[in-house]
Amino acid sequence: MPKNGKNKWENDVAYSNTLLLINGKWRAAGSGRTIPIVNPATEETIGNVAHADRADLDEALAAAANGFKVWRAMSALDRSRIMRKAAELMRERADNIATLMTMEQGKVLAEAKIETLAAADVIDWFAEEARRAYGRVIPARGPGIYQLAVKEPVGPVAAFTPWNFPINQVCRKLSAALAAGCSIIVKAPEETPASPAELLRAFVDAGVPAGVINLVFGVPAEISEYLIPHPVIRKISFTGSTAIGKQLSALAGLHMKRATMELGGHAPAIVFNDADVSSAAKIILGAKYRNAGQVCIAPTRLLVQDKVYKEFVSKFAEGAKAIKVGNGLDPESKMGSLANTRRVPAIESFVQDAVAKGGKLEAGGHRIGNKGYFFEPTVVSDVPKDARAMNEEPFGPLALISPFTTFDEVAEEANRLPYGLASYAFTSSTKTATAIGSAIESGMVAINNVGLGMPENPFGGVKDSGYGSEGGTEAMEAYLNTKFISQTGV
Ligand code: NAD
Repeated sequence: MPKNGKNKWENDVAYSNTLLLINGKWRAAGSGRTIPIVNPATEETIGNVAHADRADLDEALAAAANGFKVWRAMSALDRSRIMRKAAELMRERADNIATLMTMEQGKVLAEAKIETLAAADVIDWFAEEARRAYGRVIPARGPGIYQLAVKEPVGPVAAFTPWNFPINQVCRKLSAALAAGCSIIVKAPEETPASPAELLRAFVDAGVPAGVINLVFGVPAEISEYLIPHPVIRKISFTGSTAIGKQLSALAGLHMKRATMELGGHAPAIVFNDADVSSAAKIILGAKYRNAGQVCIAPTRLLVQDKVYKEFVSKFAEGAKAIKVGNGLDPESKMGSLANTRRVPAIESFVQDAVAKGGKLEAGGHRIGNKGYFFEPTVVSDVPKDARAMNEEPFGPLALISPFTTFDEVAEEANRLPYGLASYAFTSSTKTATAIGSAIESGMVAINNVGLGMPENPFGGVKDSGYGSEGGTEAMEAYLNTKFISQTGV
């Protein structure tokens, strides 16, 4: 350890304060108010973020209205070129940006780097789609008539994003909106503001005109309640909990605003008797403890068929115990801290309740130390269905394993909850794979893998997990209106 008492990896990047981006200018809030930022691994205050008030929001709205006029008038090719440049800047700056993310969010640096580089891929993909927002020509019923379905940008967007993937959650909305020709006001997470601000900086530096992209922080409810009904805003997109998503979509409905809702999940991961158990345990383990389990598509209910149940539980628990937890900047750490102080008691109470109701603690179960929001990778087996964690999204490093016997029984359990975001299944039978893929009520199903979230693929849920897609051509569609034009000669 160096003389100053800190580890070598602790001093590499200076964490900077985060400003608002309004009409092309980085600036403090009009009121001068700020919100402190805490490093979840050390509990030290490492900076602050500007706290927007109503006057700042009014400026952002005026900027977005003007920015929309400028951006929609630009050719798709020019928009695409600027976006590609932003992607390049993200790649060039990835080391620095990833470090900021780890310092404010807690995830390990390798994951933060992957997220930053993945953002560049997302931008590139949507930049390509910008050039392919095709409409169509519809055969007419008479001669000399042209019938056109034309795609037009929906208008200025308000986007609300959470702290678990500070860049990715913004990037999907921002890239799709820009590709479609929309301007945007992003309300990024107050707890993890610096890394998403760097994403917007890449776009500004790449040449996005003033007003097209705007970034605000403040009190989430105050901002959404003001922006969603505002006449300038034509579309909203929210990622976060189902409870808040329902409130915001109700508000959007009241004001006839289009909405995309990417909400909570409670993914079943089904392991059939004929699966490669070691491989399934390893793959699910990686997906479960990524980002300390704070992932909407994380496998949560691990449903394992009776003949391989014991073997799976033992392999999975062994794997969980072997995960090294520590400061995300330490290259030795494989899982970082939880992102904020609220998650610690939340996970503790889920574990205590599951065990009190008869679940068996196979690994972890406790907070680690008393500095930083670290929690052990936790495994509870034989969890009864009435345990709270079997019904509410745990959103943390908690795996719940339960046995099943028949296909019908597991299909019913998979579909029991109101959530329907991601699902996973492991089997060596094509027949079972096809049957489970069709039986599960969820927006995404991965069979023998956990490969969800590539920019070219649809990403979204059904039931209480929301509506709309944040990936694939469907994501562009969410930011486009279809205008019908019927044209004849004079
Ligand atoms: P929360 O429900 O208060 O907040 C979730 C997110 O929504 C945050 O980013 C917050 O800033 C935002 N938010 C809250 N109220 C809002 C409002 N009225 N208008 C606009 N945005 C608002 O809870 P939390 O403690 O931050 O997270 C707890 C739960 O949220 C988790 O247990 C998880 O279920 C869910 N969550 C889901 C995702 C996801 O990727 N789907 C991400 C983060 C949190």
